Amino acid sequence: MTDDSLWETPAVTILRSQPGFDLEGLDRNSTPGFTGKKADGERLLEERGAVLSGLQELLYANGRSGDSRSVLLVLQGMDTSGKGGMVRHVVGHVDPQGVDHASFGVPTDEEKQHHYLWRIKKQLPRGGYLGVFDRSHYEDVLVVRVHDLVPPNVWGARYDEINQFEKELVDAGTTIVKVAMFVSLDEQKKRLQERLDRPEKYWKYNPGDVTERKLWPAYQEAYQAMLDKTSTEHAPWYVVPCDRKWYSRIAVTELLIDAFESLDLSWPPADFDVEIEKARLAES
Ligand code: AMP
Ligand code: MG
Repeated sequence: MTDDSLWETPAVTILRSQPGFDLEGLDRNSTPGFTGKKADGERLLEERGAVLSGLQELLYANGRSGDSRSVLLVLQGMDTSGKGGMVRHVVGHVDPQGVDHASFGVPTDEEKQHHYLWRIKKQLPRGGYLGVFDRSHYEDVLVVRVHDLVPPNVWGARYDEINQFEKELVDAGTTIVKVAMFVSLDEQKKRLQERLDRPEKYWKYNPGDVTERKLWPAYQEAYQAMLDKTSTEHAPWYVVPCDRKWYSRIAVTELLIDAFESLDLSWPPADFDVEIEKARLAES
């Protein structure tokens, strides 16, 4: 197949957050680097999902042989940006037995009594696993900043602390893929409307989401600061326009494939004598 040519610039290159990036100028309905249409994207998602699945199995196999490395996908975005769909339609391609999934909502009473990274550290992926964070420690510089849940000097110190925390994770063998998902204000309205129009979507609707829309500019500012301060060499952010779900899904599939490929894995050798075992099996 020549589908690779539908990407005129690879997702890892074009989506990587660069210094000086201005979030306000991002067209959230765009499909950076991709020349194909929706139908191409949907077909590609299946093809590349299968590739992703093979790579994840390879990591899992190595994990079983003692390789302690892991991949951690961090999904961060406003409500309706498609985080849940990303888990279903992208991560859904791989064997769930190799996935460590965690979502982070309003901290529980117990979590509130601990440092904000306490609950994060408990959910880090095991060696050989693909970890997925639906929201993350970044909430502690996003919603927390926007709502003044702690004083500015407290959240202000967290950017450096998060960079340091991620550096230690990376040094210990976790490849972190940080995906900042951006939906437009108009598209968010459509998606919330759908949640109100369709009984099977009521469960996704939260009246608080409409309240948050009023804080949109403050959130954009907080996301901008997050990109400015925490897109590091060891754990860069990828900025993904999310008004077109098919695009965001193929983009993240490519980011994950790239992360797995960078591990340069091969199938672990047998820890038994293959010929002897064949003979034993034949005789049995
Ligand atoms: P959802 O992802 O729709 O289940 O919503 C989870 C909610 O939890 C969102 O409104 C988040 O902003 C909120 N949340 C997540 N982490 C924190 C945090 N550390 N402090 C306050 N709210 C949080
Ligand atoms: Mg929600």
